[in-house]
Amino acid sequence: MTVSPYADDPKQIKETNPFESMMSRFDEAARLLNLDPNIYRILRSPSREITVYIPTLMDNGQYEIFVGYRVQHNFARGPAKGGIRYAPDVSLDEVRALAAWMTWKCAVVNIPFGGAKGGVICDPSKMSLAELERMTRRYTAELLDFLGPERDVPAPDMNTNEQVMAWIMDTYSMHARHSVTAVVTGKPVEIGGSRGRREATGRGLLFVINEACKKFNFDINSTRVAVQGSGNVGGIGAQLLQNTGYKIVGISEIKGAIYNPNGIDVNKALDYLKKNKTYEGYPEADYLTNQELLEVDCDVLMPAATENQITSANADRIRCKIMAEGANGPTTASADKILFDKGIFVIPDILANAGGVTVSYFEWVQDRMGFFWREDVVNERLQDTMVASFHEVVRYAETHKVSMRIAAYMLAIDRVGYDLKLRGVYA
Ligand code: NAD
Repeated sequence: MTVSPYADDPKQIKETNPFESMMSRFDEAARLLNLDPNIYRILRSPSREITVYIPTLMDNGQYEIFVGYRVQHNFARGPAKGGIRYAPDVSLDEVRALAAWMTWKCAVVNIPFGGAKGGVICDPSKMSLAELERMTRRYTAELLDFLGPERDVPAPDMNTNEQVMAWIMDTYSMHARHSVTAVVTGKPVEIGGSRGRREATGRGLLFVINEACKKFNFDINSTRVAVQGSGNVGGIGAQLLQNTGYKIVGISEIKGAIYNPNGIDVNKALDYLKKNKTYEGYPEADYLTNQELLEVDCDVLMPAATENQITSANADRIRCKIMAEGANGPTTASADKILFDKGIFVIPDILANAGGVTVSYFEWVQDRMGFFWREDVVNERLQDTMVASFHEVVRYAETHKVSMRIAAYMLAIDRVGYDLKLRGVYA
């Protein structure tokens, strides 16, 4: 087997490089699986990486050239699938890691997709809606040959939403000369979206947190949860957890956090954030930094913002008993070991936040059938998938005596590797 230059010495890894973080877990899982060296070599690289330069007419009459990426990691189990992120700090290494995580995530929940991810380096908070639309349409046009219901199906991620998906679907459809709803998921329900997709990632988190609480005999009504992030995943996740009986003791957004050990009314806090664009000044809680929020005394911590939040610098100060990763890559590989040694039960990103892609799969199926399901049907099928996947990962962890993270990678790599072998390599 090819040995990664980094596999045995975590100190050599640039800790916050998400691609290296992903790869070091991949290497460990592959080694434990005794993965066929040829399959190992293939799965270590993405299939395709596309860089596009996106001329965009700005409102001031000038053209700005944005840089965009789409990385398609693997197609062994079906069309590539993964979100598109708009942010000033998007990098190819980040998109590469996120694309590979999508391959593993789709395999963990056993849906017939490969993995991909896209990103555009831009600051959407400084762009008008019209500028965002023009940039999105040109980005889509540059990728026309690579997208499609059978090829690669984007979805929302940080700073993209249903509206962005609608523009992508429309642009693709204009070129196809007919409506191709299944080219993206996370669209508005009125134009081919799935009921329950908006809440799906948060709801999936609720289902796996419920299972973890059962495993450790936690009473939901006295379980305290801290949530980093107030967006699609963190905000909706916190609302769903609170509606189920959990006590939300802290929640944050990019500038800071609020904390009250007696509980926070999430709906009130989110309304406050919407109006004031900050939690600062929220009357019924203390104002903390994001770092302080991660370290508060709680039972469940749900990082649902961005990568590299729990690193070797703060992992030993994390005080939760269960950590459910709403974000992709919130924990670095070096922090994994510290959390494991502290006995924190980590439900890893590729399992914990897979509710989003699971309902994206349901959306793709519904678009292709032209037959749309009731929300309770969507939610019930999501629950079946999340609960079954949680227990499969637990079984792997217990059988192989590894962390939940490595167990999830092992399960995923086993599935993708097996399917790749069945198909054979066209070489
Ligand atoms: P979002 O843009 O809706 O919300 C992001 C939230 O994180 C916001 O509250 C923002 O203020 C906060 N945030 C951003 N950068 C931060 C930082 N550096 N420090 C602290 N807070 C920060 O995005 P989202 O869709 O909720 O995605 C959040 C995470 O979940 C990402 O890692 C994304 O890849 C992952 N994820 C999203 C989905 C989905 O369906 N949207 C599915 C799976 C995983």
